[in-house]
Amino acid sequence: MVHAEDFQIVIVGGGIAGLSTAWFLRKEARARGMAAQVRILEARDRAGGKVVTERPDGLVIEGGPDSMFREKPWGLALCRELGLADDLLDCDVARMKVALARGDGRLLPYPEGFRMGIPTRGGSLLTAGIPSWRGKLRMVRDLWMPDGAPEGDESVASFLRRRFGQEVVDDLAGPMMSGIYTADPERLSLLATFPRFRDLERKHGSVIRGMRTAAGARRGDPPAPFVSLRGGMQTLTDRIQSRLGTAPEMGCQVTALTPTPAGWLIRSGDMEVRAQAVVLAVPAPEAARLVAPFDAGLATDLRRLRFVSTANLTLAFRRRALPKPDMDAGFGFLVPRKAQRAVTAGTWSGTKFPGRLPDPDLVLLRLFVGNDLTESVVALEDDALRAAAREDLARLTGIRAEPTRVWIHRWPQGNPQYDVGHLDQVDQWMAAARVHPGLYLTGSSYRGLSLPDVVRQAEATAKEVVDAGLRKSDAS
Ligand SMILES: Cc1cc2nc3c(=O)[nH]c(=O)nc-3n(C[C@H](O)[C@H](O)[C@H](O)COP(=O)(O)OP(=O)(O)OC[C@H]3O[C@@H](n4cnc5c(N)ncnc54)[C@H](O)[C@@H]3O)c2cc1C
Repeated sequence: MVHAEDFQIVIVGGGIAGLSTAWFLRKEARARGMAAQVRILEARDRAGGKVVTERPDGLVIEGGPDSMFREKPWGLALCRELGLADDLLDCDVARMKVALARGDGRLLPYPEGFRMGIPTRGGSLLTAGIPSWRGKLRMVRDLWMPDGAPEGDESVASFLRRRFGQEVVDDLAGPMMSGIYTADPERLSLLATFPRFRDLERKHGSVIRGMRTAAGARRGDPPAPFVSLRGGMQTLTDRIQSRLGTAPEMGCQVTALTPTPAGWLIRSGDMEVRAQAVVLAVPAPEAARLVAPFDAGLATDLRRLRFVSTANLTLAFRRRALPKPDMDAGFGFLVPRKAQRAVTAGTWSGTKFPGRLPDPDLVLLRLFVGNDLTESVVALEDDALRAAAREDLARLTGIRAEPTRVWIHRWPQGNPQYDVGHLDQVDQWMAAARVHPGLYLTGSSYRGLSLPDVVRQAEATAKEVVDAGLRKSDAS
């Protein structure tokens, strides 16, 4: 048995990465008979990081993530573990339609029977409004084209072009896949973001055939792909905090980290904390700043990760302000990158997750603003940002009415860009970090930025920390 006073762990950062690492540390240490003391130091006056839900007048306004992918089970498993099973809320599959902005600003419905821009039902390609007939002919070549995948990573655009042609990159799968990651598909790593497509290509010799086989193997209707929590995603980070024995220490920005013979000296302003293990659950540039004094090489490598700024505005309208009363019948719309507009996507929040609008006359539209081509818009003053978003909205949807209320959330340098080769780089960073016993890196900068991926990494990090702690106690 390792005693509490023997093993002290400090987690730097109280986002979902830091909070879930603390949760799994507690669980793993208990299961393996190790008493550990875990402290979370959080720079701001609230924990949760990018997970932010505002709840004015019974509404659910998300500033960061609004849901988790069901296909990635780690987030849902954590919710269940925390007693939140009854709070899980499926998206409304019956209304899961998306529109795509065309060059002239019109919104065209995304074809039916497609998943991530790839047809999964026989005949769905024939009836689809996009791509063109030439594009469709090029797309079906995927069915007999040999596997031409490169050995290692490639960009999402290169993969889509190889299998389906340029139209799919520009107008179909490209906008959806790069939209999820707010990234340039020409740079976005396939293996770090959509490795399943490479697996389908390898296994079935055709991505379309692979997607159809997977869809056919499912019995009954497919389950809702996106899952939220009734009170919004912050319910998750709030619940972890309430179930942890000790609350994160707020307003504690870690300013310096020093390796010592006994472990680590962590400084936050005047406060000094000693620990045997320190988990940096902060974005890579902040981790770089902290490791720079003792490992300049690792700091330089971590700084290579690019970030893009985005913002989102949630606009409240009265239904009568919409040019057509059923405009919010689907989930929203995507604006392809080539349009170079401030608005990159829109979500009808009340449609995507039903039962959360207390007033049926109210419509909530969440507009996503900025990508690597247009991110300067994120720095505009509130009024100018609102004006830029509303100008695009009018062009796309004809909505010109003044919203009754607007909520703005900005994420300057908040979106890591997983460029081609990202996972190989991360392997190198992790190997470099391992040279320093008791130092761990975890979170959205590394092996997946979705909430479930961050939770998965947190669990793995917690296991590593406990393994090392037990090894240390065996050795002493
Ligand atoms: C607008 C937006 C929408 C998104 N939508 C989705 C979605 O729908 N589904 C999904 O799965 N994912 C989504 N994501 C991604 C996901 O929300 C993030 O990847 C994830 O929340 C990041 O968690 P993290 O803990 O790694 O980092 P962060 O949330 O950034 O947390 C890092 C924490 O560390 C603290 N910190 C930084 N420096 C220090 C220091 N020196 N000392 C102490 N504390 C420090 C920060 O204050 C912060 O609290 C979205 C992201 C954004 C921005």
